[in-house]
Parts: sequence; structure tokens; C-alpha cells
Amino acid sequence: MKNKTNLVGLTLAECEAFAEKIGEKKYRGRQLYKWIYVKKTAFFDEMTDLPALLRDKLAETARIGFLEIADVDDRSLSGSVKYLFKLPDNFFIESVYIPDVSRKTLCISSQVGCALNCRFCATAKLGLKRHLSTGEIVDQVLTIMRMRDEEISNIVFMGMGEPFANYENVIKAATLLSDDNGLAIGARRIVISTAGIADKIIRYADEGHKFRLAISLNSPFQEQRSQLMPISRRWDVNNVLAAVKYYAKKSRKIPTLEYVLLDGLNDTKEHATALKKIVKSMPCKVNLIPYNPTGDNFSRPGAAQVNQFAQWLLPLNAGLSVRWSKGDDSNAACGQLAGKKQEWVR
Ligand code: SF4
Repeated sequence: MKNKTNLVGLTLAECEAFAEKIGEKKYRGRQLYKWIYVKKTAFFDEMTDLPALLRDKLAETARIGFLEIADVDDRSLSGSVKYLFKLPDNFFIESVYIPDVSRKTLCISSQVGCALNCRFCATAKLGLKRHLSTGEIVDQVLTIMRMRDEEISNIVFMGMGEPFANYENVIKAATLLSDDNGLAIGARRIVISTAGIADKIIRYADEGHKFRLAISLNSPFQEQRSQLMPISRRWDVNNVLAAVKYYAKKSRKIPTLEYVLLDGLNDTKEHATALKKIVKSMPCKVNLIPYNPTGDNFSRPGAAQVNQFAQWLLPLNAGLSVRWSKGDDSNAACGQLAGKKQEWVR
């Protein structure tokens, strides 16, 4: 399998180039692209408009993805389902399917583990094992669509890993996911969430991508933020917010500030006042996320405190939402399920 070309993750032009490389006409590459991303087939035998000889040749030289489902956790009463994938090098990653009235969202991973070491995060405990390839990112979506036999309407890069630490593969994957000739998930329905790598936010703005951007803020105060998120020692709050303002101005899009609420730590009136001041200084939405316990030192504030914090922030021009975790009854925090499996293979 190692020498076979993985077709998942190839663009239309790359599929055409692959067809030519194996001695076929360019249009065969367009057919392949359609079979993989539009019809979502995983088997060459199903590609009925390709000659049998070509299907045999493809089976010898290529493969369509490789993610192996290791576990499916559908115990959550909310309807969310967590998928655990085993990679060929025995690492595990996870994706979470989150249904809602009007959308089916998939939260996907961009790395195996993560190097950023946010104190409240289960994935951080794994450390960084490696980046995911474009194919491994896109294949999470294709595999789950096939398993569920339904379309996914929204994608969030909020699973394992820091997307901007794997910038090229994430942007290429998001571009493939949104391609009108392929999976056709609208760019505005794809959210890339970063812990705040300021130079990549600037690059992202300069490159003019249409995907939505979210920044995990979690504290308006540099000292506390750098304790919670060590990346803040490299790019401090002011650097990150300056980059976000640059992005908002350049793209004319409204970024989202995500704020994980930790009981007694960052949910005080002082925090809300400072956060409100930030929000008033630029166009942005705020997404409050009551912490989902991962068995460490932090805990989730009660509903009354969450509501109080939201009230302190109001009124906000661009919007405020509270995202309660869907599935706190089922290892819902990113990295929890993979963390358990990873321990097994060590
Ligand atoms: S919260 Fe995100 S960026 Fe921080 S350690 Fe976890 S996966 Fe990495």
C-alpha cells in the first residue's frame, strides 16, 4: 500500500496529472475526481464509466484514502457522535459529528496531538506526534459521509491540533472541501480556529481566503492568557488582536473570538469588562464555551454564572453565542478519546 498514490487530497489538476502519469488521457483524472469527491466512492470497481482495464490499473497504482475506523462513540444524548480513526502509523485522531436543526457539522483534526500545550485541553496531553496530510484531513469528512450516508453541511477545524501550525495542508484541505466541482461545502460554512498564531493570521488575511476565522482568546489579560495558553508568550494578546483587526479590515469579514469559560478563573466581571472593551474595538463575534471537563484542575461554571457573564457582555453589535458542549456525557472534549487509545499503543 505504501507505494500507491493516495487520490484523496489531490486537487482536480493533480488528478489530471496523475491520469497522465499512468499513461491515460487527462479527462480520466476529471472522472476520478468526480467519483472521489462528488460520488464519494471508495472503490475503483464502482467507477462504472471507466474501462475495466483502467480500473485494474488504478487498483495496482492508487488507493482512495486509508483511514480506519477504530471506534465510534454515539452514547451522547445530544446526537453528537465521536469517530476515532487509526492511521497507518498506529496513531489515532478523532472527528466529531454534531447535528443541529439546520446543519450537520463535522469537527475535524489537523494534527496528531498538538504542541501548543493549552492547559485546559485533552489533546495537549498527547504532545505533537505529527501533522496530518491534506488527504488525512479530507478523508475524515469523506469517510464519515459514507458511513452516515448523509451530507455534511459545515466543517470546523477545532479538533485535534492547531490548524495554522499545519497551514499549507489545512488550507489545501479547506479549498478541496469547498470546491464547487467536488464536495462543494460552502467556504462560509468552513471555520478555521486558531489559538492565535499572529503571523499566520496576517498571511491568511493577505491570501484572501473565504473560510471563516475564529480565534481562541480565553482571557483578555496577557499574564493569565500566557498561563492558560503558552503560545501567548510567543504572540501576546496585543499581537494577536492586532492581527485579528488586520484580518477583519482586509477581508471585511467578521472573525469570532472564542472564549472557554473556566469556573472562577476567567468568568469574573473584570474579565467581561476587559473582553467587552476588546470587542468594541473591532468587528467580531463572541462565542462563549463553558468548559468541558477533561479530568484536570479546571471546572465548568454553572449555568447561572455563564448567563451572568453573557449579560455583562451585552449589548454586542456583531453577536454573542453560548456553545454548550454537545456530548459531555461521552468524552466530548477534543483529544479525550484519542488520548485514551494512544495510551493503549504506547
Ligand atoms: S486547545 Fe487547540 S491549540 Fe490548544 S493544545 Fe488543544 S488542540 Fe492545541
